Amino acid sequence: MVDDVHSALNATEVLEVLRPRDAEGVAAALARARAEGLRLTAAGGRHAMGGQQFASGGLLLDTSGLDAVGPVDRERGLVEVGAGVQWPELVAALGAQQQRGDGPAWGIRQKQTGADGFSVGGSASVNAHGRGLAMAPLAADVESLRVVLPDGRLVDASRTREPQLFRAVLGGYGLFGVVVSLVLRLAPRQVMQRDVELSSTTELARRVDERIAAGYLYGDLQPDIDPASPGFLRDGVFSCYRPVDGPAGGSAGGFETVPEGQQRLSREDWSELIALAHADKARGYAQYVRHYLATSGQRYWSDTHQLADYVDGYHLRLDALRGGPRASEVIGELYVPPERLADFCAAVADDVRAHGVDVVYATVRFVEQDVDTALPWARHRSACLVLNIHTEHTPDGLTSSEAAFQRLIDLALERGGSYFLTYHRWARPDQLLRAHPGLPALVERQRALDPDGVLHSDWYREHVLPAVAAAGVSGG
Ligand SMILES: Cc1cc2nc3c(=O)[nH]c(=O)nc-3n(C[C@H](O)[C@H](O)[C@H](O)COP(=O)(O)OP(=O)(O)OC[C@H]3O[C@@H](n4cnc5c(N)ncnc54)[C@H](O)[C@@H]3O)c2cc1C
Repeated sequence: MVDDVHSALNATEVLEVLRPRDAEGVAAALARARAEGLRLTAAGGRHAMGGQQFASGGLLLDTSGLDAVGPVDRERGLVEVGAGVQWPELVAALGAQQQRGDGPAWGIRQKQTGADGFSVGGSASVNAHGRGLAMAPLAADVESLRVVLPDGRLVDASRTREPQLFRAVLGGYGLFGVVVSLVLRLAPRQVMQRDVELSSTTELARRVDERIAAGYLYGDLQPDIDPASPGFLRDGVFSCYRPVDGPAGGSAGGFETVPEGQQRLSREDWSELIALAHADKARGYAQYVRHYLATSGQRYWSDTHQLADYVDGYHLRLDALRGGPRASEVIGELYVPPERLADFCAAVADDVRAHGVDVVYATVRFVEQDVDTALPWARHRSACLVLNIHTEHTPDGLTSSEAAFQRLIDLALERGGSYFLTYHRWARPDQLLRAHPGLPALVERQRALDPDGVLHSDWYREHVLPAVAAAGVSGG
C-alpha cells in the first residue's frame, strides 16, 4: 500500500515499488511494464493529492535513486539535477559547491512554500510555483530535460529540441514519460530583506505592483482565518522580500533558513500554531501576525528563505490530541485575474462561513503567465488563493470538502479564473474541462505517444479520461 504524504486520502495497492538509479533502470522498468501489460507511474515526494502518482495494481517507480546533482555552470547559472532530488538536498548541494569554488554564487529561483519534501521532477511535472511576485511557474526555470518515453527511448528535450515533448512533459503529470534529469536555471544567490506590513485583499493587487516596482522579488499575503472576524480572508499579514547589500547575519555564506541571531519559530511554536489554527483561530492568527511583524527588517538568503517548516505527521498527533476521527488538510488553489481578487475572496469568505467550512490556513500569491507548457494553468497573470481545508476522513467529512471545493471552483470560474489540478480530484467534469481546456488535446497526444496506456495513473484513468470522453470533445 502506498499513499500521499499530506492528505493520506489516496491509499493505493501497487504491485511493486522499483527504485532505478539511472536512465537504463527506468527504461528496464518500462520494458517490464510493457511486457507484462502493467501500468507504471513515477513518484517523487508523493505530495500530489489526487492520485496522480499512483496506478492501482501497477508498478510504482520511486525516483529517489535519481539523485545526482551535476556541477554548476557558473557562467550561465545552470545545473543538471536528477529528477528525484528534493529541494533541501539541491539547496545543500549547491551550497557545498559554492563553498568549494570561486565565482558567482547561484541558488534556486523558486520552490513551493508550505513543505520541502518535493522532488524536482515531481514539481516540474505539475509545474509548481513559489511565492515570486512576478514569476511564471517552474517550467520557466527548466532549460532542458532528459526523459524516458513509454517505448523506452531516452530523449533530450528543450525549447528547441523536441519542443512539443518538452511542453507536454512539463506540467504533464508523468503521462508522457519518466523524467530522469532536468537542467535548471538558477538565480544569483543574494541577501534579501523581509519587510512586513498589514494589508488586505482589497488593496493587494496595487500593493504588489508597487512592491515589484520597488525591486521586491518574493512575497505573499497570509489572511485572517477566523470566520468570526470581519477581516476573515480579507485582512492579512503581507510579507515581501527585496535584495539588499551587506551580510545576512549569522555565519558568512551560511545555509541556515533563518540566519543566526534572528527571530524564528521553533518546531514547538509551529506545532502550537497548527493546534491553534484548528482550535482557537483568533488566538492562532493573532500570534502568527505578531511573529511576522516582529521579523520585519530581518535578512534571509534568496534560496533558503523559501524552505518551509513542515512538521511531518502533524495531523496524526493532532488527531490523537483531539480524539476525533482521522483527519487531514486538503489544499485547494484557485486563480483569478488580479483585479477580481477582492470580490473573489469576499465571495469565498461568505461561502465558507455559510457552510461552516474549516479553513486552517490561507495565503494569496501572484503568478505570471505560463508560456512554456502544453497545459498551462496560469494562462494569464493571476492572483492565487490557497486554502487548507480541514477534512475528516469520514463519508460526511469528505463529501463536505468535495462540495466546498466545487463551489469555490465555480466562484473562480465565474470570474474568469481556474484551479490547480495537483491538490485533489473533486472538481466536476465540466469544471475540469472549463478550467483546463487543453485537456482533450493532451489526451490525444498522450494516446499517440503511449497507445498501450502504460503511463496511466489512477487520476488520469478515473478523473481525466471519463470527463474528456463524456464531453465528446476532440483535441483537434
Ligand atoms: C503541504 C503541501 C504544500 C504545497 N505547496 C505548494 C506550493 O506552494 N506551490 C505549488 O505549486 N504546489 C504546492 N504543492 C503541490 C506540489 O507542488 C505537487 O503536489 C508536487 O507534485 C509535489 O512534488 P512530488 O515530488 O511530491 O510529486 P509526486 O506527488 O511524487 O508526483 C506528482 C506528479 O508528478 C509525476 N512525477 C513525479 N516524478 C516524475 C518524474 N521523474 N517523471 C515524470 N513524472 C513524474 C507523478 O507521476 C505525478 O503525476 C503542495 C503540496 C502539499 C502537500
